[in-house]
Amino acid sequence: MLRHKAFRNVDGLTSFLEKVGPSDVFYSSAYYEDPEREMEKKGWLGADLIFDIDADHIPTPCTKTHDRWICANCRIIGRGLTPQNCPGCGERKFDERTWPCEKCLESAKKETIKLMDILIRDFAFFPEEIRVSFSGHRGYHVQVEREEIRTLNQMARKEIVDYIVGIGLDTRFHGLRDAPVLTGPILDDPGWSGRIARGTYDFLLKATPEELKKAGLKKKRVDTIIKYKEKLLESRKEGGRWGIVKDLGVDSWRRIAERGAKIQSARIDTVVTTDIHRLIRLGNSLHGKTAMIKIEVPANEIEDFDPFTDAVVFKEGKEEVIVSDAPRFRLGDAFYGPYKGEKAELPTAVALLLLCKKAAKVVR
Ligand SMILES: [Zn+2]
Ligand SMILES: [Zn+2]
Repeated sequence: MLRHKAFRNVDGLTSFLEKVGPSDVFYSSAYYEDPEREMEKKGWLGADLIFDIDADHIPTPCTKTHDRWICANCRIIGRGLTPQNCPGCGERKFDERTWPCEKCLESAKKETIKLMDILIRDFAFFPEEIRVSFSGHRGYHVQVEREEIRTLNQMARKEIVDYIVGIGLDTRFHGLRDAPVLTGPILDDPGWSGRIARGTYDFLLKATPEELKKAGLKKKRVDTIIKYKEKLLESRKEGGRWGIVKDLGVDSWRRIAERGAKIQSARIDTVVTTDIHRLIRLGNSLHGKTAMIKIEVPANEIEDFDPFTDAVVFKEGKEEVIVSDAPRFRLGDAFYGPYKGEKAELPTAVALLLLCKKAAKVVR
């Protein structure tokens, strides 16, 4: 790790990178008087507001099919999200293999879109101040560059995080109450009130009896909701009359609204945003775990952005490799794998991805 480097201009940086040839390049989101000195003497001036949305923090059902971990201590192997502590020995060190999976990245993209909506509608940032990038691996980076926010301290950033994640939300303070009659927030209310109303609508629209039960509702209430679903949804469009079905009281609605709020919150990595000295991957550099590029995605193109096409750099040539172990995956228009100890001649980008994932060796 080479740290505390500073460059006067892009040429200086480029020639340094050409000389060193690092697998990954990061820069500081902070602004310093003297970035080349040691940490305490740099003279912190401020930092951009950074958000990281990583599939590692989103529980997707497919993670069990492509991710696995091995305890560095007792060598127990597990599938899916890496646990905090090893279930075998309690240690916290693991060798992980995660995969840049299409479904996982689609979920990360959805979270990114929600985050942008909150930043623009609730925080009133301008879309042109928000830069969104695909990280090159399993997620998206969102960066707000604006003079006034640079000097926000950690506490202030924590407040922003809490708002986005919906920590400490109490539906009572967003209009859900039963006196004198049962009322709740309406779909186009500003801020979290409207988000709770819209999230509740979405939850009702799609919820199965099992999901309603999981929200903490008794069977009788679940039956009522299923029976009157259409009526309930229709009533939402007409305003704040939440008490249209007699059986469902304010307690039931509170449980449902809490689920709705969860749907509307964005799953950001909370540690990244509160860190005022954060290092982030340099834009237009390659990711050492994939050989794909960290690439900026214009805000109005994010819906159609396809990382497995748009972030592929090496578009020519083929390479013969021996693949030890890889799940089935797509790159560009074609699918590859699953592989288990076999020789394959693959397009350069595919071979590089496998090599970077330490799942293959070059045939010499
Ligand atoms: Zn262990
Ligand atoms: Zn996945």
